[in-house]
Amino acid sequence: MTSSFAPLDPPAGDGPSSKKRVAYFYDSDVGNYAYVAGHPMKPHRIRLAHSLIMNYGTYNKMEIYRAKPATRHEMTQFHTDEYIDFLQKVTPDNMDSFSKEQGKYNVGDDCPVFDGLFEFCGISAGGSMEGAARLNRGKCDIAINWAGGLHHAKKSEASGFCYVNDIVLGIIELLRFKKRVLYIDIDVHHGDGVEEAFYTTDRVMTVSFHKYGEYFPGTGELRDIGVGQGKNYAVNFPLRDGIDDVTYKSIFEPVIKAVMDYYQPEAVVLQCGGDSLSGDRLGCFNLSMRGHANCVSYVKSFNLPTLVLGGGGYTMRNVARTWAYETGVLVGQELDRILPFNEYYEYYGPDYELDVRASNMENANSRDYLEKIKTQVIENLKKTAHAPSVQLTEVPRTTLAGTTDEDDDILDDEDEDMNKDVRTTKRRWDQRVTRDDELDESEDEEESKANGVVAAKEGPKRRNVSAGPDVEMGSPSPVPEAGSSKVPEPEPTEQLEVEMEKAPETAPVEKSSAAVESSSTDVTMADAPTEAVEPETKTEPGTTAEE
Ligand SMILES: [Zn+2]
Repeated sequence: MTSSFAPLDPPAGDGPSSKKRVAYFYDSDVGNYAYVAGHPMKPHRIRLAHSLIMNYGTYNKMEIYRAKPATRHEMTQFHTDEYIDFLQKVTPDNMDSFSKEQGKYNVGDDCPVFDGLFEFCGISAGGSMEGAARLNRGKCDIAINWAGGLHHAKKSEASGFCYVNDIVLGIIELLRFKKRVLYIDIDVHHGDGVEEAFYTTDRVMTVSFHKYGEYFPGTGELRDIGVGQGKNYAVNFPLRDGIDDVTYKSIFEPVIKAVMDYYQPEAVVLQCGGDSLSGDRLGCFNLSMRGHANCVSYVKSFNLPTLVLGGGGYTMRNVARTWAYETGVLVGQELDRILPFNEYYEYYGPDYELDVRASNMENANSRDYLEKIKTQVIENLKKTAHAPSVQLTEVPRTTLAGTTDEDDDILDDEDEDMNKDVRTTKRRWDQRVTRDDELDESEDEEESKANGVVAAKEGPKRRNVSAGPDVEMGSPSPVPEAGSSKVPEPEPTEQLEVEMEKAPETAPVEKSSAAVESSSTDVTMADAPTEAVEPETKTEPGTTAEE
């Protein structure tokens, strides 16, 4: 095993540049959603990862937030109104009356209707959008949302377990302030939804390393490089089965280095799909946890504002190990090889160790093959010559919520000044949306507590509310109005239909064959006001670990 660590760089250490302000987004509800029985995509894995992160003490080194779920309005910054309306309306109970729409939007098999589908998408997208918003405002250097990374969702179609493309939504948010955004995808599947969304623009460069050849989604050839203004701004590195740590590193680092040199992005979005790990239920690569994390460490070394997202990953215990380890890499903490005791300890037997190790599977990627592709990819990058510089004059001064950043800053500052000792204030509370769904509340709290997260105390739960301004983008006063059209300041928030219908257990049987993918995750976006979720031991407002 040791040999598999050899090619990797030492953990990003203590150099001054490695100290990052990290914002971590987690909604304790996320693990309660379930696709249908037997479906390989299990949101519970995010809870497993979170539990490790808490029990390793990693939360001490970052700020933890619960984002406001993305609203319908926010989702339609990318998706069509009709598609989002459908996602909001359809439930396991009424799905039979939407059979035509299910076909039209590709909802059914790999992407089944399940209880709370829309809210799940809202959580995923909310974290990515809010993470992007914090990065935009310089409130953190790195934002993490393991519930995001659902890269297959299309503008008006679900795909590969993804419904709402939180990544596209996050990138759209970044583009309000950043001239050029780099998207890097290390999921075993091609990042098709994100590539397609930005295929004709040079303001986003998409770079995807993935299995290609009789594999979902079937796109991502070397020759697919973008069109029009976007020509040469889409990069695809097709791979065969069994790529290992050493060979992955030998292509990833030179390609990313060239991308950085030629494109000079102002922000990076890194999709860390865990299905590229060895032993994944649907994947076919042979990366160890450390080989996978080397990509995270390498991207971090460029010291750019970075949004780190989840994605695919179907062997839950390994996804959790890897995302916890990568969280450690991002905050500069090396995790012990022995797992700490945690509420899901039984998942990690028989060894109860952190590492996900490579296997002895054959690597079908020859050195020669990889060298050829790498050379061609870098040749293409040279054609981008000069990085496009965009006039940012058209960047809207208002947030998606309709308020200006200045308004938010002023209110946030006042709020902070007046409440130095409390981490969650009334203002912050008001900005929070709490769902009142069928999930048992006490159980939920118990669970949060078990996870080491203490939910914000007081405060009424609000249903279908929209919240107000977000801490980040926020507007001055919360307007619980639904559907109103543009009120200048307070954000008209769209109502989240939050009905969690009881799903009949008849959900469609899923069939996701290996050939049909998987990876994605869900989709959503939101930039919501984030509420800081206070870890038990944290006492200072706004404490940033790294600082
Ligand atoms: Zn995948």
